[in-house]
Amino acid sequence: MRKKLVAGNWKMHGSLQQNAALLERIKEGVIGLNCDVAVCPPYPYLAQVQARLDGGLVSLGAQSVSEHASGAFTGEVSADMLLEFGCRYVLVGHSERRALYGESDLVVAAKFVAAQQVGLLPVLCVGETLAEREAGLTALVVSRQLGAVIEAVGVAGLASAVVAYEPVWAIGTGVTASPGQAQEVHAAIRGQVAALDGEVASGLRILYGGSVKPQNAVELFGQLDVDGGLIGGAALVADDFLAICRAAN
Ligand code: PEP
Repeated sequence: MRKKLVAGNWKMHGSLQQNAALLERIKEGVIGLNCDVAVCPPYPYLAQVQARLDGGLVSLGAQSVSEHASGAFTGEVSADMLLEFGCRYVLVGHSERRALYGESDLVVAAKFVAAQQVGLLPVLCVGETLAEREAGLTALVVSRQLGAVIEAVGVAGLASAVVAYEPVWAIGTGVTASPGQAQEVHAAIRGQVAALDGEVASGLRILYGGSVKPQNAVELFGQLDVDGGLIGGAALVADDFLAICRAAN
């Protein structure tokens, strides 16, 4: 049985004061839950969040990572640096990174490799745009995005990683994939991995992301191949995030 994971992606939100208040509520609210919980704050807050989480029940993640180990890459942050600040997870290939910062499948795969090289668990985000879904290209796009990473690390690399299916049309829009739509893509992702390695496939956690709210989390997380969620907007509201965590319990 795969233990569910709920990860909050704070995107470019927060302040020292807001983070402190949110974390106190989350730390208290997750006590006794049987699921993994992580928060991914903006880089400058990693030290604050690390100190406040203090190695407790909630893990720390980052929202991106450089594909390079060090050097003249102004504005970038390396995997080693994330590790030094207590990160366990790092998102790679979030659709906003792909769309707004031009991260290609190859760059995303290189980031995945860089993360794993230092022992971070990459959370590989995949998902189709609305135009791609309407053109019937969902399976093709998602398998291409996943395939680029498998090409780089081999299927065994997915044994220490997480995949997040995030349809772009559902992120921050209030439109959620139906449980059936999510399950269909999650099953296809697991099937693609299973064709190469059944054991890796059955252990792989595949999160759903895209307008997950307390009202839809139970049904989404109840799907056979949905192993938790990557949460954006609702991760900034303690009551909502905790209700979503309880849905994964
Ligand atoms: C996200 O940022 O990855 C996300 C899923 O956002 P939201 O939950 O707001 O749709």
